[in-house]
Amino acid sequence: MLIFKQSQPGRTGVSLPAGDVPETAGLPESYRRAQEPALPELSELDVVRHFTWLSRRNFGLDTGFYPLGSCTMKYNPKILERIAARPGFADLHPFLPQLRHGGRLVQGALMVVYEFERLLCEIMGMDAFTLHPMAGAHGELTGMMIIAAYHRDHGNRKTEVIIPDEAHGTNPSSAAIAGYRTRSVPTNPATGILDLAALESAVTDDTAAIMLTNPNTLGIFNDQVDRVVEIAHRHGALVYYDGANLNAVLGKFRPGDAGIDVMHVNLHKTFATPHGGGGPGAGPVGVRRHLADYLPISRVVKRSDSTYTLDYDYPKSIGYVAPFYGNFMIYLRAYAYTLLLGARGLVEVSENAVLNANYVMHRLKDVYDLPVQKSCMHEFVLSARRQNAYDVHALDIAKALIDRGFHPPTVYFPLVVPEAMMIEPTETESRETLDRFIDAMRELAALAEKDPDQLRRAPVTTPISRPDEVRAAKAMDFQYPPEDSPNDNERVR
Ligand SMILES: *Cc1c(COP(=O)(O)O)cnc(C)c1O
Repeated sequence: MLIFKQSQPGRTGVSLPAGDVPETAGLPESYRRAQEPALPELSELDVVRHFTWLSRRNFGLDTGFYPLGSCTMKYNPKILERIAARPGFADLHPFLPQLRHGGRLVQGALMVVYEFERLLCEIMGMDAFTLHPMAGAHGELTGMMIIAAYHRDHGNRKTEVIIPDEAHGTNPSSAAIAGYRTRSVPTNPATGILDLAALESAVTDDTAAIMLTNPNTLGIFNDQVDRVVEIAHRHGALVYYDGANLNAVLGKFRPGDAGIDVMHVNLHKTFATPHGGGGPGAGPVGVRRHLADYLPISRVVKRSDSTYTLDYDYPKSIGYVAPFYGNFMIYLRAYAYTLLLGARGLVEVSENAVLNANYVMHRLKDVYDLPVQKSCMHEFVLSARRQNAYDVHALDIAKALIDRGFHPPTVYFPLVVPEAMMIEPTETESRETLDRFIDAMRELAALAEKDPDQLRRAPVTTPISRPDEVRAAKAMDFQYPPEDSPNDNERVR
């Protein structure tokens, strides 16, 4: 029920003492309220119950298994919240003077930026990083702007960016916003990776960059990255590495070692920071030496007396991509996560993520189609094609999983697999949780044959069943169902 509907005239949650300063009539009439604000009147307990009830209608990592492929919904350790909540970080203001008091008030924060950039360089094999971009897609755009600046600076006329057909939709958008035409190259259906012959014939002297995701969105590791780099560089093109999902390769593979020129990392995936319903995220961008001059400003530098300062003196920089320093509180958490795990811990993350994904894949591949018959990395893609015979689709399986307490996997992506169900368990899930999910998926495969109608009716345990998702986004018309009487909806526009 809407909180406004629960209002009772005169009920209060707090009692304030009477004012001990004289009222003034000094406020101009135009600034004064003509009417009392329309706030609901409730007790503190009413308010606590209301918001607790609302929070329980939400599904999050802290409530259940969330195998949303490509999104890496891994557990966000609570100690990172404790660290970020420390007043020395939480109370910082971006306008704090760098120089007054010897800049002491911000030295810790600047050190976090400097040191985390250096750690990311080490983990990814790159020469310089910026923490400014505020999402993966934002990192891609930053990277494509760096590539464009590089080509302009070198007098190269380049008009096109090549992108594999399994790529995340943000890849072509980022390239297009940076001013490039995009060209798609196919994935080889047997190997599940980019077709080198097709790439070879697509690359021309107009190619500014190739965007590569590895492991790709099919969860397959491309072991020919060096060949891709060689083909690109032969034509004066650069290679962009979409490192949104590095959960399988931390401590195992460094993009820089394979010759990658520029990349981004999603801290809200691989580095366990909250996704926060679309933000705040962070998509740091790493470059090799020849691109470092184009990185966004400001840059944190370490002075000879070991103090840190902001430097804006980069004439070739693409400029600002974020207000102030990006999402500081997010990359602070990622920095703490990296230090807590250490080098060995990062390797264990990858190994357990890959182990978990392969375990689930092997226990489901007899009941669902597995388009690429290979070991997977951190995720894998099944197809509900076989279930289509009973008029059951990936969407029906996804919805039925909700009734069984699981967040659905990513469905209908990547586009190269019909009826795709992209499953990413992550390393933070226990064997017992994985087994419960496997049991549910196997039960649904059986139900598709025996009682497909039941699947098509799902979900039945949620406040609403199947909204028209496009209309829900484009023409919002909310209903607030009351607690236990779904027939008694109040409609508010
Ligand atoms: C999530 C993701 C992105 C985009 O990241 P956002 O932070 O959502 O903008 C890009 N590429 C891949 C492969 C992804 O999984």
